[in-house]
Amino acid sequence: MAVYKTVQRKMLLEFLGTHAGQSFTVRQIVAGMNGCGENAPSESTVYRLMRELVDDGTVRKDVDVESRENVYRLECGSDAGVSMRCKICGSVYNVDGESSRRIKEEVSRCGAVPSDDNIELIIKCRKCGKS
Ligand SMILES: [Zn+2]
Repeated sequence: MAVYKTVQRKMLLEFLGTHAGQSFTVRQIVAGMNGCGENAPSESTVYRLMRELVDDGTVRKDVDVESRENVYRLECGSDAGVSMRCKICGSVYNVDGESSRRIKEEVSRCGAVPSDDNIELIIKCRKCGKS
């Protein structure tokens, strides 16, 4: 069950990641992920996962002015372009602005061109690192 949930969480983040900057209602997310096969999360699952993702700061919740519906999008402050993803549980953590800037600096020193995309570091989170 826990693994199943992790898969859906990852799919959800991938979906939002490929549409970064766009906001979606839960219904739009469910519709957009319909093509993901049998693992595609149900509406109630998306609601639950979104609540978690908003709580840990991965996703930002806004209210659409016209429809008055909650809309969600990936949190990506323009100066906070580095995130860490746990390779075990899939949790995503934001790196604070100053560290992000330093990481980007190091990366470009190694010859990479800094892009507008998020830099993702694959890590083991504290929880998973202990087990
Ligand atoms: Zn973890």
